Amino acid sequence: MDYQKILEDIYMEIQPYAGKGAQADYIPALAKVNPDQFGIALRTVSGDSYEYEKAQTRFSIQSISKVFALAMALSMRGEDLWKIVGKEPSGTAFNSLVQLEVEKGKPRNPFINAGAIVIADMLISELDDPDAAFLGFIRALSGTDTIDYNMEVAESEREKGYLNAAIANMLKYHGTIKNDIEDVLMFYFRMCSVEMSCTELAQALLAFTNCQPFDYAGFKLTSSQIKRLNAVMQTCGFYDEAGEFSYLVGLPGKSGVGGGIVAVYPMRYSVAVWSPRLNSKGNSIMGMKALELLTTYTQESIF
Ligand code: GLU
Repeated sequence: MDYQKILEDIYMEIQPYAGKGAQADYIPALAKVNPDQFGIALRTVSGDSYEYEKAQTRFSIQSISKVFALAMALSMRGEDLWKIVGKEPSGTAFNSLVQLEVEKGKPRNPFINAGAIVIADMLISELDDPDAAFLGFIRALSGTDTIDYNMEVAESEREKGYLNAAIANMLKYHGTIKNDIEDVLMFYFRMCSVEMSCTELAQALLAFTNCQPFDYAGFKLTSSQIKRLNAVMQTCGFYDEAGEFSYLVGLPGKSGVGGGIVAVYPMRYSVAVWSPRLNSKGNSIMGMKALELLTTYTQESIF
């Protein structure tokens, strides 16, 4: 399969979508990013790598961090985790409060903000230095030591983080989170602020593509846990557009409001794409289109 040519063809074909949508600006620091950028990187389990355009430019991974945080929490808490956070698609926006109130403080899944804030709380409870552990895990997964938090982005989100603060308060009211609200939110914002490139993300996601038991920086997952994590990406990775992504692309994946999307074709390849302009659901317009074309041209999707 000539993946390189396919990536290049895809880039040409998605040009009509350039300029459509807008970058996230509810986090003021993200509004400064040039929205007209695109990068894509693909890694195969047999060790080949392909990339095109700005695949090596780092960007704010935002909610893609929720995949790594869930992997760490699963590694430490195992199946017990699901007593506190659900694993059903939410069908609501990533930062919705309504469902959380109706369902008495049990988030639908770990990939909406409420669920990820609960995962952040678990990591704080389990780890002596959660900041260092989180970085250690993603640096080990991607094989890159320079990956770091962007504190300007984290602070910027905290300043305007009214909805996430409301979610954290409701979680605390229901006893779902144990630690100090401010500590939990700041750790959550820091995880979202991490900057990685498509190349680094594709490499990091290979561990979830191989479906082999792994141990990165002391965080171990069995192949069965990896299978289940991929299942949650498939059903819950795209906010209230999880059905649409499944329909158009047909791979487990996760998006972030920085414009990044990661996806895996189990036993075959991992792919990361980035373009900051988002649709109304918070997913990258060019990114979604690029992945739709990738699985169409390669005829490689799980369906
Ligand atoms: N830090 C963002 C928030 O909490 C993440 C949202 C996202 O990427 O979906 O609103």
